[in-house]
Amino acid sequence: MLVVKADAYGHGAVAISHHAVRCGVEALGVGTCSEALELRQAGITVPILVLGTIVDEEVAIALGHNVELGLHSTDRQQMLQRAARRMGVRARVHLNIDTGMGRLGVLPERALELLRRIQGASHLELAGVMTHITATDGALDPQTATQAHRFEEVLKRAREQRLLSGAIHTANSACIFTGLRPIYDFVRPGISAYGVLPSHLPGAELLRPALALRSQVIFLKDVQRGATIGYGSTWQAERNSRIATLPVGYDDGVPWQLSNRGRVLVRSHSAKIVGRVTMDYTTIDVTDVDGVSVGDVVTLLGTDGDKSITAADIAADAQTIPYEITCSVGKRVTRVYSSDPIPTTGQPSPIVEEQSC
Ligand SMILES: *Cc1c(COP(=O)(O)O)cnc(C)c1O
Repeated sequence: MLVVKADAYGHGAVAISHHAVRCGVEALGVGTCSEALELRQAGITVPILVLGTIVDEEVAIALGHNVELGLHSTDRQQMLQRAARRMGVRARVHLNIDTGMGRLGVLPERALELLRRIQGASHLELAGVMTHITATDGALDPQTATQAHRFEEVLKRAREQRLLSGAIHTANSACIFTGLRPIYDFVRPGISAYGVLPSHLPGAELLRPALALRSQVIFLKDVQRGATIGYGSTWQAERNSRIATLPVGYDDGVPWQLSNRGRVLVRSHSAKIVGRVTMDYTTIDVTDVDGVSVGDVVTLLGTDGDKSITAADIAADAQTIPYEITCSVGKRVTRVYSSDPIPTTGQPSPIVEEQSC
């Protein structure tokens, strides 16, 4: 099950999902009902699970589009049963057991009762049983063994009482790469499928990031020593400097925190971000980069020549995590999946950049 929530971590859920299905991915995980509907409307027919939950107003539309739902309470179980019966459908649900995450999910001691209720409900079908691992180091963290043990205990008793059906799934990226066992029926990779994984996890070096964020130089200006740049005049030229303006800002996914500390690549050189990142624009110091001209491609995330900037690099500068970096690529940034043509909704999209699945 490929996790494509948050618009496939910023990559564009529709195109990524079409590509994933062609590559053999059997199911998709999303965060919200509207994300599931977007995929259904784009012609995606594989099972889609809302990993979290939905609000009552969304139940009818979710069931009407054969969207699978996480289930974590008796109230919700009863409500789904009523709605499904009214609609004449069977709602496919995944029991979410809270083994330590502490947000959604039924506590282990109440899980069997809920399983019994699901089994007894005429219009509910148990499509899966899941839990979510909290440790960012997956199986390397002893806490994960505790969670796995709690989960196994429930499974064991549920098996004895013949309450189990569907797929069992637990593993996110960190668990997959740290060898969580057993791996069960599905794995649920998100970030690693996009080629990003914290570098200390084994196997991280095998991944190739799927995403690059590029802009261009739209304006060049020579400023005198002592000149200041941007809101708050937070940067002052210590020498005569050449400043390039890029039409990309925090709305596009350049974190504001990179103000005066981030860098970008231009002509295979590193150039510093100077002044504050603004909503629409970012300014960089290209004094030491020869031959920069208007129209030059600027790489904010990705590779240029022998240099690269990863989501992890940006996250370190912005004091956040790589997930937030890719998820923050703004709506108005054009996603290009291949040289041509740009994919349209409803059509499987050609992604020639990906060499293999
Ligand atoms: C987001 C999410 C995942 C994927 O996590 P990654 O760390 O991106 O691999 C898996 N399962 C659930 C329930 C999630 O919410």
